[in-house]
Amino acid sequence: MRAPVGVLFVVLAGYVVSLLARPVSDSHVWLDGWGVAGFELLASSLIFARGLVDRQARGFAFPLGLGGALWSLGDFVNTYMSAHGEHAGSPALFNYFWAGYFPLAFAGLMALMHRDVIKTTAANYLDGLLVLLVSSAALIAFLFTAIQHAVGEDTATVATNLLYPSLDVPVFGLTLIGIALLSSGRRARWYLLAGAGIVNVVGDCVAVFPALAGGVVGNALNAAAWPTSLLLIVAASWLAPGSGRPARENQSSGFLVPMVASLLAMAILFVGIVSGVSRVGMGLALLALMVSGLRFGLALRHSRALTEQRERELHAVAQRARDAHDALEAAAGELRAQSQRDVFGTQLSQALEMVDEEDATYEVVERAITEISSTSPAELLLADSSRAHLRRVASNPLAGAPGCSVESPFACVAVRRGQPVAFDSSEALNACPKLRGRDTGPCSAVCVPVGFMGRALGVLHSTGPVGSPPAGEQMARMATLATQAGARIGTVRAFEKTQLQASTDNLTGLINRRTLEVEIRELLRAGTPFALAVADLDKFKAINDTYGHEAGDRALRFFSQIAAGALRDGDVLARWGGEEFTIILPELDRHQALPVLDRIRHSLEAAHTGAHPRFTVSFGVTDSAAAVSMEQLLQIADAGLYRSKQCGRNRVTVVDGVSEEPTPDHAPADETAGQVVDGDGHLRHEAAPSGARADHGKAIDANGSAEGKSAIARRRTKAPALYDAADEPDPRATGLEIR
Ligand code: GH3
Ligand code: MG
Ligand code: MG
Repeated sequence: MRAPVGVLFVVLAGYVVSLLARPVSDSHVWLDGWGVAGFELLASSLIFARGLVDRQARGFAFPLGLGGALWSLGDFVNTYMSAHGEHAGSPALFNYFWAGYFPLAFAGLMALMHRDVIKTTAANYLDGLLVLLVSSAALIAFLFTAIQHAVGEDTATVATNLLYPSLDVPVFGLTLIGIALLSSGRRARWYLLAGAGIVNVVGDCVAVFPALAGGVVGNALNAAAWPTSLLLIVAASWLAPGSGRPARENQSSGFLVPMVASLLAMAILFVGIVSGVSRVGMGLALLALMVSGLRFGLALRHSRALTEQRERELHAVAQRARDAHDALEAAAGELRAQSQRDVFGTQLSQALEMVDEEDATYEVVERAITEISSTSPAELLLADSSRAHLRRVASNPLAGAPGCSVESPFACVAVRRGQPVAFDSSEALNACPKLRGRDTGPCSAVCVPVGFMGRALGVLHSTGPVGSPPAGEQMARMATLATQAGARIGTVRAFEKTQLQASTDNLTGLINRRTLEVEIRELLRAGTPFALAVADLDKFKAINDTYGHEAGDRALRFFSQIAAGALRDGDVLARWGGEEFTIILPELDRHQALPVLDRIRHSLEAAHTGAHPRFTVSFGVTDSAAAVSMEQLLQIADAGLYRSKQCGRNRVTVVDGVSEEPTPDHAPADETAGQVVDGDGHLRHEAAPSGARADHGKAIDANGSAEGKSAIARRRTKAPALYDAADEPDPRATGLEIR
């Protein structure tokens, strides 16, 4: 569309040049009459066409196009009448056509304003009418007479001529309002329309007041103003884009225009009453006053609607503020609860950190349960080491235990699901069956599984009134307690298990050699007297060889039980290694130990029922008075054991001490001094069997096998300290007693 508009501008420019170039009198009907009218009709058609191709442009393009067409029709009529020499009175037919342009132009601009700038209302049209009325009233009241005098024409002619500049002003004003209200965005369209408006104002003023610009220029302005104006409107409709943003809501109350108009109208009426002005002006002022009243009414209604809308908005804003406040409060509450939970969690973890036994952990759990709720019955049910049975280990000291009857962890639904479960009522169809039939009647409940490293340990269980199970903060704290207690109990158990494994012997469950050594050192450090016996099962290899290793293992366990059964509480039985055992009998001396060891021997003999392979045991015993170090004591007792083996096994040899002199290997054991045979067949040596350690093998084994020697060899490897210490024999060592 740019090209046709451009061509039209060139044509127009040519016409203007022709106007300026020729004298005023050199007028051509075909050009200044038909030509201009035709040009205007073409321009108006283009404005109208814009509405045809663009639905959105219809609102303003149709009225403006029609208005332009009316104007050009006026020109056609004027030309026709001039060409035919018809004298036109005033107002003539073409004056009506021309005047018809203004309301349409006003409507078109208002429609454009409504689309692009601000949502105009019917009241705004009324504003336009009011402005028109009051300005006409003022014009007629104050200026008309003077103008008429100056012009010297009749009233109708002057009124007709004055109509155009008078109507041009509000139309131009409307474009200025459009520019002012279109605070940002593309204003080009409105600038073009304002340009059209001002060209009209200038053209019409020159036409009405020839004195303003006479001659060629005045003629050119008069003749070219309307085609130029319409061409600018064409450009505005076609070339310039819209503002690019939707029209904003009309928030003005609309009091300003009726207020100014009514004041002006009242001033006109006042002046009219006082000094007398044209009746038409007075009448228009009166009409303006009435329209103002109507407009005030509309403004009041609008203002009330606006007030109500603002109130609603305020209400909505206040509601949003309240909502935001509530949300903030809730968030703050949650933060507070979280921080309290954190405090609880921290204190709980500190409390649990300070305990290293299970029972102490249960106490912490009880205190934590009370802290969570002093009124809700609660309990911690834990599985024993077999994980088959649950037992209550802690309960609410104030509110008691809910008394869940679940017996095994995997019968508990919370444990099975591995997550907390809540029951609103024990009577509900889907309630845990363990909740029903409790002495306390129907209840609600929560059950939080307690575990450690994915293994179920038990369940933390709490009840409440029907319909309101422990929830929210209480539930969160229970979860914290379950997690932390589970972790602590699991850790304590794991630690205890490790301790046990490190200190006991897997096969027999007796304490192991390392633990025994600790015990002996403790006793020596404390100065507690004790008897120390070493035991070795007789011909045990044969049991293994004959019945198998499994049977050998069972025999070892069997002996452990027999021996443990024959001892007092406080005596210590340890597996030294292999089929060798060590016994500590606190507060006894070696002689007092003798009957104890005999008891073991006899119990073993008596316990054999035939289902077990028969075997016996040999002992060597001494006491803490015989030496000062553990190694020496073990060496002395070991020497006694050797002697027992040597003398036929299944007996006890009491050793009083070892000689100070190291004995060479293979020295016969019975060369030692002070051997005593009592009535019971016991051997007593007053001096240590120095050669015992060296000559076990051959001396013991009547068959001359190397068995005995290998036994000693193993002992050497197992207890090198024993033999290192033997290099410094205890001076108190005196002898050996074999039974
Ligand atoms: P004696 O002590 O009477 O001289 O004869 P012995 O046959 O007991 O001789 P020795 O001490 O040399 O043999 C010990 C045997 O004990 C060797 C080994 O097969 C057996 N033994 C050691 N530890 C275990 C064990 O843990 N389980 C089983 N089944 N046998 C063991
Ligand atoms: Mg043996
Ligand atoms: Mg042995």
